[in-house]
Amino acid sequence: MLITEMKVGETLRSLIQGKVFTIICHGCREVRFPEQEVNAFVRELAAEGIVTGTITTDYICNPDFLQMRLKGRMAEIEDADTILVFSCGVGVQTVSSYLEDKRVIAGCDTYALPGYQGVTPLEHDCDQCGQCYLNLTGGICPLTACSKSLINGQCGGAKNGKCEVDSNMDCGWERIYRRLEKIGRLDVLKCPVQLRNYATDDEVSR
Ligand code: SF4
Ligand code: SF4
Repeated sequence: MLITEMKVGETLRSLIQGKVFTIICHGCREVRFPEQEVNAFVRELAAEGIVTGTITTDYICNPDFLQMRLKGRMAEIEDADTILVFSCGVGVQTVSSYLEDKRVIAGCDTYALPGYQGVTPLEHDCDQCGQCYLNLTGGICPLTACSKSLINGQCGGAKNGKCEVDSNMDCGWERIYRRLEKIGRLDVLKCPVQLRNYATDDEVSR
């Protein structure tokens, strides 16, 4: 199980460029989803006239379902410069890989909760680390796409784009670099090192 918390509004505002299309996922809201906070934030953006459209749906972590839900909204999505997604890390990664030419922003942090985990087969994975890095890594999770869960860049051991730990998998950090290059965001790699706040591991016990 998981819970989500909205990132600080000011942080999200600093990441939004131009017009924005928002995607709100209710798939896991029975456990905890900051619904009121998210809706209030989206209303604020809409009042400023920068929202091209909003969709509230569920299970955006399922690629087929996501594509079906977004199909009729592509004009609004094309009109937007930023896609702001309020969901767990899997949902953001699914949107990011589907809309690979778009600037996709994670609106939430995802925390783990002990208990039953769904068994839906998914293309992406989230370790529910409580400090989501997707806004710095082009929508690819460094904890799950890298064998060593490195969060500050490549280990240097990749050969021909393959991970030195598992030669069957692409190096997660090479994927992150290529994706940032594609969306014109290589500048984020020049940001100061994002220290991991291990206190987030205990957040759910608050
Ligand atoms: S960085 Fe990865 S593990 Fe952490 S919340 Fe984001 S998707 Fe999940
Ligand atoms: S080769 Fe790439 S994916 Fe493998 S451990 Fe090193 S940085 Fe991570």
